[in-house]
Amino acid sequence: MYDKKSLKAEEFINDGEILDTLKYADENKDNLALIDKIIDKARLRKGLDHREASVLLACEDSERIAKIYDLAEQIKKDFYGDRIVMFAPLYLSNYCVNGCVYCPYHLKNKHICRKKLTQEEVKSEVIALQDMGHKRLAIEAGEDPVNNPIEYILECIKTIYSINHKNGAIRRVNVNIAATTVENYRKLKDAGIGTYILFQETYNKKSYEELHPTGPKHNYDYHTEAMDRAMQGGIDDVGLGVLFGLELYRYEFAGLLMHAEHLEAVHGVGPHTISVPRIKHADDIDPDSFDNGIDDDTFAKICALIRISVPYTGMIISTRESKAVREKVIRLGVSQISGASCTSVGGYAEPEEEDENTAQFDVSDNRTLDEVVNWLMSLGYIPSFCTACYREGRTGDRFMSLCKSGQIQNCCHPNALMTLKEYLMDYASEDTRKIGEKLIEKELLKIPNEKVRKIAAQHIAEIENGSRDFR
Ligand code: SAM
Repeated sequence: MYDKKSLKAEEFINDGEILDTLKYADENKDNLALIDKIIDKARLRKGLDHREASVLLACEDSERIAKIYDLAEQIKKDFYGDRIVMFAPLYLSNYCVNGCVYCPYHLKNKHICRKKLTQEEVKSEVIALQDMGHKRLAIEAGEDPVNNPIEYILECIKTIYSINHKNGAIRRVNVNIAATTVENYRKLKDAGIGTYILFQETYNKKSYEELHPTGPKHNYDYHTEAMDRAMQGGIDDVGLGVLFGLELYRYEFAGLLMHAEHLEAVHGVGPHTISVPRIKHADDIDPDSFDNGIDDDTFAKICALIRISVPYTGMIISTRESKAVREKVIRLGVSQISGASCTSVGGYAEPEEEDENTAQFDVSDNRTLDEVVNWLMSLGYIPSFCTACYREGRTGDRFMSLCKSGQIQNCCHPNALMTLKEYLMDYASEDTRKIGEKLIEKELLKIPNEKVRKIAAQHIAEIENGSRDFR
């Protein structure tokens, strides 16, 4: 059908194929024999292609949907266990030259307060985040070659990694900045970033161009090829996402999976993560202007289907979602969540005044990191601050092959427990610590290999006595 390898991203993820996929999905949404066959294929844990997954998304049979949810939950358990990796976004600058109609950073918004962190302010933000217990950050910035050139981003990354405040430095900086050149991606790689994250926003080219009427982001092809350039620049781990609510979700879902297929075909490794942001109320944006928003049930179905379609890819959910929605989708496949996020520039060190208004969008989960960690543990999950894979060079295809072989389970579980222990010792409230200590005791027993179990128990005892950073 397609020569996946030679096509550019925007040629492969094309309107014709997506529309044809949606037609095929519509025609087969009641074809229970085919649906059962696709679910059986997903049970093999080798994923589904965009056509197969789109049929499941169109299916409305409650029995089959329940089966999909059960399978998503099981696959999540098999590949990720009960671990949930924690991170926080760090907003560096809201200067932006683009005209994205859904984002308050858009150039024409005159009442948002424009702000760019100085290196001293970056330092204060990082200290505030470290004081909460964060070890992983995702840096965010608008696109502005004058105010936020790549040199500024690189300087911020250097500052972030250099701050060794109290209990150890930030161990992984993921980067969410606008599409850029191979040369700049190489610089980001050399600066030691973790994942490069870029949301496609929408895969519908016509809508994309209307939603991004001005600025460099208007160029759909350049944006869509960004992950290929990032990989050419040596970045192993890339994170995809669409902003659900801009376009019809079934269209976006097919496009997203096609993008994953493209990366796998061309670079031999799929996306490291997929994010599932939904559009939120924001300054200077008319919330009624987007009528493609999706309800919570559809959102959960999308998360479950991403889980069974790309079983080895991490899934990220932010504080755009409420506690209740997060609880539902974590079960269905989400592996990373942000906690105690602030979407304002400089908002961690100094909560902003009413009239300041630098935030990108309203968050729905306003709990502290301690509350989120406590909540996760009460649901039976293990909050993890682990960054071992990245530090030991297990990125890109090396991470994927380890994950596919099931081996990752053998080191992730003890590592998660050690980093949780550090968190409990250094940052947790008394109640959280009590719950956590019990959880660690119970979870240690689940490490199958006796030698590994003993080493982990020993490290945990050493952390109790003041040692840090085994992972
Ligand atoms: N400037 C970079 C770019 O152009 O990709 C990325 C940084 S931006 C801070 C991160 C993401 O926030 C965007 O990719 C977009 O999907 C999301 N975003 C923008 N407006 C939003 C809104 N009103 N609600 C939820 N998410 C939004």
